[in-house]
Amino acid sequence: MPPTVAVWSIPLRTRFRGLVVRDGVLVRGDAGWGEFSPFWDYDDAESVRWWRAAREAADEGWPAPLRESVPVNVTVPAVDAARAREIVLTSGGCRTAKVKVAEPGQAAADDEARLEAVRDALGPDGRIRVDANTAWDVDEAVRRLAAYDRAAGGLEYAEQPVPTVDDLAALRRRTHVPLAADESVRRSDDPMAVVRKAAADVVVLKVQPLGGVRACLELAERVGLPVVVSSALESSVGLAAGVALAAALPELPYACGLATGRLFTDDVVADPLLPVDGEIAVRRPEPDPVALARTAAGPDLAARWSDRMNRVVALVTPGV
Ligand SMILES: [Mg+2]
Repeated sequence: MPPTVAVWSIPLRTRFRGLVVRDGVLVRGDAGWGEFSPFWDYDDAESVRWWRAAREAADEGWPAPLRESVPVNVTVPAVDAARAREIVLTSGGCRTAKVKVAEPGQAAADDEARLEAVRDALGPDGRIRVDANTAWDVDEAVRRLAAYDRAAGGLEYAEQPVPTVDDLAALRRRTHVPLAADESVRRSDDPMAVVRKAAADVVVLKVQPLGGVRACLELAERVGLPVVVSSALESSVGLAAGVALAAALPELPYACGLATGRLFTDDVVADPLLPVDGEIAVRRPEPDPVALARTAAGPDLAARWSDRMNRVVALVTPGV
């Protein structure tokens, strides 16, 4: 009898989102395996949507795909210029790069050097977007985006440079760089505020934080803006849900942020979801027993995940 729960822990190649290792749980149901991997700074209530996404994958599966592969971007962490160049050149043919900027402790010059290196590596036809993860106020964002747009030789868009929807709306009137809303959708009780306030040109949708593939498809329809599907830094089991969402969207005008498997040193499957010629094939790899053994969490971490999962399940089904 194969297991129905597996806890994994995998080191990252480069510090990302302040993390050097990522961990999560896989759960198996009638439809296959799902991933439950909320970051540890998400509380139980906020993790309920992540649990719904895992159960959707395990119990129902996903809507039929409309395409066989999805274009993806390479993600460049807040590394130095030489490393940024190397990451782009070994990306699996990605023609779009998402560059992390505004890392605590780094200066604008560090970001600009990284952007120049990425442009050099991509060539003039590549697309470059930046993600500042809410780091700036509106005035600083106006200045930085003008400078970064020059350094990058043109920005495709800037993802969540400022914290709030009102900030995004104000910034959008003061910059020609298109804006994408991420945190303002993913961690908001009112994702439609972005639309009502004309605060973004693009929305970033992530399957686990938004409660599943179907929930994202419904939200995409309501929002009516171009969608970029991104991962929540997941194993290939979690990434497969993002690929399924990208494959089921009626329109897919931008490369998706689903090539984050490259940031991991290992995976829970034998055939990870990685890009070839800048695209990830639409498929659903199964966890591999050997890979699961290699990436298995130690007993303390496994116990923490078990406790967390039980608490979140109790929130979903009170009284159980
Ligand atoms: Mg983001």
